[in-house]
Amino acid sequence: MPEASPEWWSEGVRFSCLGCGRCCRGEPGAIFFTPGEGARVRDFLRIDEDAFRQVYVTRRWGRPSFVERRNGDCVFYEAASAKCSIYPLRPAQCSLFPFWPSVMESREEWNRQARQCPGMNEGRLYMAEEIRNLLEQSPFEDL
Ligand code: SF4
Repeated sequence: MPEASPEWWSEGVRFSCLGCGRCCRGEPGAIFFTPGEGARVRDFLRIDEDAFRQVYVTRRWGRPSFVERRNGDCVFYEAASAKCSIYPLRPAQCSLFPFWPSVMESREEWNRQARQCPGMNEGRLYMAEEIRNLLEQSPFEDL
């Protein structure tokens, strides 16, 4: 049974990113970005809007999303270094993980995601107020 309370995390949760890159690759998903985030990446790449859209952008569930390679890797993930090539400019969706509304919705969903992310349930303790602040930063309510 899912947790009834939306604040199952009121005593805090532990998370420290280990930089393993698993959330940047693997099963197909979506890498949503806002228009402002897209413009910053485009400027960084020094390409125009058309080239940016053609090479880096697709649509997922009706919204612009960064392209994934055939193996499921984000187009900006560099396998050789296991790093994101636009790390300082990565969208909020990436920087806020795992503090997404859809993940924090229930302990079950959190633990389901933790099976893929070795940083969850480990490391730094995030208290409720900080979690709430992070959730409020999500550009997409349904993320
Ligand atoms: S899967 Fe988790 S630990 Fe690995 S890079 Fe992503 S957030 Fe960090």
